[in-house]
Amino acid sequence: MKRHILFGFLLLSMLLSGCSREGTLPVSMTKDGLLGTIITLSVYDAGEDSQNLLSGCFEKISDIDSRMTVRSPGGEINALNDSAGANPIKVSGDIYRLFSLALDVSKTSDGAFDVTVGPLVRLWGIGTADERVPERSEIEAARGLVSWQDVLQDESEGSVFLKREGMLADLGGIAKGYAGDAASDFLRENGVRRAVLDLGGNICLIGSRPDGTGWRVGVRNPVVGESGNIGTLRLEDTSVVTSGGYERYFEKDGKIYHHILDPKTGYPADSGLLSATIVCKTSALADALSTACFVLGVKKGAKLAESYGAEYVFVTDGREIIVSRGLSDVFTLRDESFTVRPPLQGGGEETS
Ligand code: ADP
Ligand code: MG
Repeated sequence: MKRHILFGFLLLSMLLSGCSREGTLPVSMTKDGLLGTIITLSVYDAGEDSQNLLSGCFEKISDIDSRMTVRSPGGEINALNDSAGANPIKVSGDIYRLFSLALDVSKTSDGAFDVTVGPLVRLWGIGTADERVPERSEIEAARGLVSWQDVLQDESEGSVFLKREGMLADLGGIAKGYAGDAASDFLRENGVRRAVLDLGGNICLIGSRPDGTGWRVGVRNPVVGESGNIGTLRLEDTSVVTSGGYERYFEKDGKIYHHILDPKTGYPADSGLLSATIVCKTSALADALSTACFVLGVKKGAKLAESYGAEYVFVTDGREIIVSRGLSDVFTLRDESFTVRPPLQGGGEETS
C-alpha cells in the first residue's frame, strides 16, 4: 500500500518537473531500512535523469550500509571486529579515511566521541529487543574496552587494527553523515546543482531553492513527549546534522535511557543538552561533531565545534537554545516556550 502511494507520488513529481531541467518541484525517492533509518532524496534540476541519479545514490548508500553495518552479518567492520586483538584488516579506501576522521574527532573531543564505543552499545542494546539497564560491573567491563587510542592505522597497507581482544568499532555516530557526503558527491559529479538529501534527519543541501533563497531546515523540539520544530534555519550548500536523546530510547522506572553513550561513565550522556545540531560542509564531520557535542555539553561542545569552523544550535534541558554567531542571522525561533541565548566570545555559554 505504502509503496503504491510512493510510486504515485514519484510519478506525479516526475511529470510535474520533467518538462524542464530547472523545475521547481523535485523528483523524490524514499527508502526505509538502509542505515537503520528512512531516507528521502530529492533532486530539483535533473529532469528525466532524476530517477536514474536517485537510484544511483541509493546503490551507493546501500553499499556503504552493507560494508559498515554491525547490525547484520558480513561487511568490513564486522571483519575488523572479529579480528580485534589478533590481526589488522585491510579496508576500503573510504572506510580507511572515515576511520581517520573518526579518530581525529575521538581525539579532539577527548573521547566524548569514541569510534570504539561498540562494547557499550552492544551491552545497552538500545533500540533492539535486548535493551536493558546493565549491572554496574558489566558497564565497567565494557567501558574498559572503549579506547580509540588502541586503534592503529597503517597507511601503506590501508589497514586498521583494533589492538585488544573484545574491542568493537562502531561507525553508527558517523556513517549516515558519510553516506550523505557520498550521495551528494555522486549527484554533484553528475551535474546536479539543486538537491535535498534527508538521511534520517541528517540533511545535505546542494545549492539553494529554485527561487534562489536558502532551504528551510527545522530544528526539532527535543523534549520527550513534545513535538514540532522549535526553530528553523535558512541554509544552502551545506550539511545539518542533529544528535538528540529523544528518538531512540527506552524508559525504565520513569527514567529515559537513550542511545548516545558517554564513554567516560558508560551511561547515556547527561550533559544538560537535549540536542546538538551541527552545520558544516562535510556531513561526516557534522555527524561526528553532533554526537561529540551532545556528550560534551554547551561549553566544551561549543569549543570543539569552533575548532573545526563548524556552526551549532544547542538545546538545553532548561529550554534554552544557544545559536552560534554564524547562524544567528539565519535562525528563526518558532516556539516561544524556548529562549534563544547567544554564545560567549571564544565558545561556551554566557553564564556557567
Ligand atoms: P543518530 O544515528 O541517531 O542520528 P548519532 O549520530 O548521535 O545519532 O549516533 C548515535 C550512534 O552512534 C549510536 O547508535 C551508536 O551506534 C553510536 N554512539 C553512541 N555513543 C557514541 C559515542 N559516544 N561516540 C561515538 N559513537 C557513539
Ligand atoms: Mg552523529
